[in-house]
Amino acid sequence: MIHRGSDKDLVLKPDVCVVGSGPGGAMVASRLARKGASVVVLEEGGYHLKDEFDMQEATAYPRLYQDRGQRATADLSISVLQGRAVGGGTVVNWTTSYRTPDDVLTYWRDHFGLGLGPETLKPHFEDVEQRLGIRKVDLEDTNPNNRAIYDGCRKLGWQVDTIRRNVRGCLRTGYCGMGCPVDAKQSATLTYLPDAVAAGAEVYSDCRVDRIEWSGRRATGAIGYFGSGRTARVEPRVVVVSGGAINSPALLLRSGIAGNVGKYTWLHPVVAMGAFYDEAIEGFYGAPQSVASHHFAHRTEGAGFFIEAAPVHPMLASIAMPGFGAPLRARMDLLPNVCATISLMIDGFDASERGGTVTLRPDGGPRLDYPFTDRIYECFRAGMKAMARLHLANGAREVVSFHASPVHIRREDDLALLESAPLGPNLFAAFTAHQMGGCRMGADPAVSVVDPQLRHHDFENLFVVDGSAFPTSLGVNPMESIYALASWASQQILA
Ligand SMILES: Cc1cc2nc3c(=O)[nH]c(=O)nc-3n(C[C@H](O)[C@H](O)[C@H](O)COP(=O)(O)OP(=O)(O)OC[C@H]3O[C@@H](n4cnc5c(N)ncnc54)[C@H](O)[C@@H]3O)c2cc1C
Ligand code: SF4
Repeated sequence: MIHRGSDKDLVLKPDVCVVGSGPGGAMVASRLARKGASVVVLEEGGYHLKDEFDMQEATAYPRLYQDRGQRATADLSISVLQGRAVGGGTVVNWTTSYRTPDDVLTYWRDHFGLGLGPETLKPHFEDVEQRLGIRKVDLEDTNPNNRAIYDGCRKLGWQVDTIRRNVRGCLRTGYCGMGCPVDAKQSATLTYLPDAVAAGAEVYSDCRVDRIEWSGRRATGAIGYFGSGRTARVEPRVVVVSGGAINSPALLLRSGIAGNVGKYTWLHPVVAMGAFYDEAIEGFYGAPQSVASHHFAHRTEGAGFFIEAAPVHPMLASIAMPGFGAPLRARMDLLPNVCATISLMIDGFDASERGGTVTLRPDGGPRLDYPFTDRIYECFRAGMKAMARLHLANGAREVVSFHASPVHIRREDDLALLESAPLGPNLFAAFTAHQMGGCRMGADPAVSVVDPQLRHHDFENLFVVDGSAFPTSLGVNPMESIYALASWASQQILA
């Protein structure tokens, strides 16, 4: 069953202890429990269901996100949106569902010695798509915030399409990021975790695993603390770390397991543009994401990027928009007429890139450093220009950047202004909702943390199964890839 914390100390001796219950942890728990293993899942977030999802940002972000929605890089230059709940990021994510691109799998094979070909993962993707109800969005079901991207790209002859979503009976309320109030979103909380529980798994919420204990080449236990102050001591045969990027590396580091842990953390770093239209956009309503353009994913001038929409809820928008006081209030008055469009950099595919690094703060929490480089700035500028161009082509009155001193673009000639606008930490708004890497998988222990079967190079019964295992970013939204990887990895763990 799913326990809401515990008011007594626990000592448990299952076959498998899974730390974290996002797509990685939920999938592993369900697969292993169904094969007859006794499974305990420890999750630091709370267990929240639809009746609690009141569609208020002020409730949802503190309750369902890491660091109450305030997570950021150490220099505060990148806001880090990351889920923290039974179900992990799937409780708050925007339901966009992609398979891992074939060329990414090929890159991993060639550079990291992984055997994860499209054919290997295919049955796992098919199973996930069936279980989560993943299907393509009809164009007429896109909201104006997404439709503008579609129409702008088409006018420029750029690749664009509707995306696929993991929903059943979506009412297009727009509140995916605050927890679906009608259970249309097929989160892990509604799918793979109940599957695991039906097969006998025990899930404990509100339990933060502080450290993994180990001796020689074996992990011997997981020590967690409930919000109540009670302790969970789990002594399993196998430990699976599925706390997600940033968190899984931090757990290993707290446990005295270092090496490459925390290195090569990828973020799909995001820059945004606001496009102001005469007509109402009302980007707070409708499925948050339903359209994407991968036209620039394989550009050769610098890192690739892809373009999607972001929902325009008041709190998120006011944090993202530059300035404060009267100017910010004036901008917020225009919210119903703004399209929020994001460009996501595809990081990790150039030999020069190191990405981010997770280390520990003095209190044992994760510290993330992700230094900006010229390659990143070049990609950000290219993304901003592309977003401005597609909205100008689509008839936007004005496109405004998220620099500290915003750049206003009303015609093509104004695009040059983006070249000279200063970029630097905290001189513009940057975000991430896709954290990957930090426990990189690979055949060579010199540049990775876990082997191609996701087993830690130094420990025979310690696996890392979540987005932190990706060697690079993906170039597509990561959820479905993590589910499929975890489904495949479960076979390796069983073996
Ligand atoms: C706002 C938002 C929108 C997004 N939209 C999309 C989208 O549309 N499509 C898409 O593909 N992806 C999207 N993502 C990203 C996607 O949700 C994540 O990539 C995915 O959930 C990561 O899965 P994971 O298993 O690696 O980790 P997570 O989902 O982060 O799960 C890890 C869990 O482990 C728990 N945990 C961590 N450390 C510990 C510990 N020490 N002890 C106990 N528990 C611990 C965490 O609380 C968390 O619940 C979005 C994310 C956000 C935040
Ligand atoms: S848009 Fe659909 S999936 Fe998202 S919260 Fe609303 S009903 Fe749920």
